[in-house]
Amino acid sequence: MRCVPGLIQAGVWSAAIRLLGVQAPMVETLDLSHIPVVDQHCHPWRRPTTSLSADEYRMLFTEGGELDVGLGVPGTVYYRWTLRELAGLLGCAAREPEVLDARAALGHDAFAARLMAAANIEAAVLDFKYAGRGAENFTVEEMSAQLGGAVTIGALRLETVLEELVLESSDAGEVEERFRARLNRETLRAENVASLKSIIAYRTGLAIEPVKRETAYGAFGTLKAEATSAGRVRIADKAFLDYFLLIALEWCATERFPIQFHTGFGDTDVSLLTGNPLQLRTVFQDGRFRNVPLVLLHAGYPFVRELSYLASVYPNVYLDLGLAIPFVATEFETIVRQALALAPSSRVLYSSDGFTIPEHFWFAAVHGRRALGTVLGELIDWNMIGREDAAEMAEQILRSNARRLYGLEPTA
Ligand SMILES: [Zn+2]
Repeated sequence: MRCVPGLIQAGVWSAAIRLLGVQAPMVETLDLSHIPVVDQHCHPWRRPTTSLSADEYRMLFTEGGELDVGLGVPGTVYYRWTLRELAGLLGCAAREPEVLDARAALGHDAFAARLMAAANIEAAVLDFKYAGRGAENFTVEEMSAQLGGAVTIGALRLETVLEELVLESSDAGEVEERFRARLNRETLRAENVASLKSIIAYRTGLAIEPVKRETAYGAFGTLKAEATSAGRVRIADKAFLDYFLLIALEWCATERFPIQFHTGFGDTDVSLLTGNPLQLRTVFQDGRFRNVPLVLLHAGYPFVRELSYLASVYPNVYLDLGLAIPFVATEFETIVRQALALAPSSRVLYSSDGFTIPEHFWFAAVHGRRALGTVLGELIDWNMIGREDAAEMAEQILRSNARRLYGLEPTA
């Protein structure tokens, strides 16, 4: 066995403390439960959410898509931890069958209400065109009541818009014309959309490059043929997607409209090599886009440090904590520490990236607050920040940054 000096030292210290009967001083975890969160990236639930088999339920706790992946889920910390927390809330044993029975017996409305009471969510930005985990989802409007009366607004997924347009248009020129028409502040406001969203990381990677129109248009024939024969199309042509993403970014620049990018981990469609937020460099460096709020999702996990760096050198880069919290169960505090290592707290955002069931929304809100409270408590203990700083940072990260970004400021 290798010697680990740090561990030996820690062991010696704790033994000495035990011998002397001295209690090690506890760092205070700040209680942030009174601050409602703005869940700035999440997806609508499936309806209803309580009649799920164990196999179905397990698959909602992995980013993997193959059923075999579900076999490993009961062994993950996030799943074990969720079962334990749910058991406490439902008054049953912390085992999968008992928890599933208890949530089914309670029924969707009562179950969701119990979780949402603990989550305390004041607003949510929902990517409503995500249907990967069930087609029968609540609408953005319906999600308001589901989330306990939260304000709900939409984020428009651009790749899905493009896929619908390829299906409906007869040539690439028509796609562009209709795509540009879709990017209209009044229309989007009428549709309750407050942000654009791109999953280009899932398709052709974040290294978006300028493309000539003829090159992008050249992909239309193949895409249209697929759309016609299958009734739908999945666009994974780099020239085509880059071309239209740059149109969207130009529009965002004129309107100062936020755009969210999937970055970092996700299901197996994403290559982490091209999903690293560093790959967006062309966009960061392009002066035309300096006013575009670029919201980089999922803490860029595992590239949290890279993302924290980017948010410290580009004034329009925002670091989102979602998906990493709650999925990366043993690292919540580490993620928060790494996020705050360089990034200003004015550009760190809370979200859950919850989908399909209420659990992720609830778990991320409860434990995201706790992890943030723990890290802020440490910073106070080390005299890096004061109590007022901590209060300000918590308020910014949990809600006020997102309120400002998506125009959710209270009007009163
Ligand atoms: Zn998402």
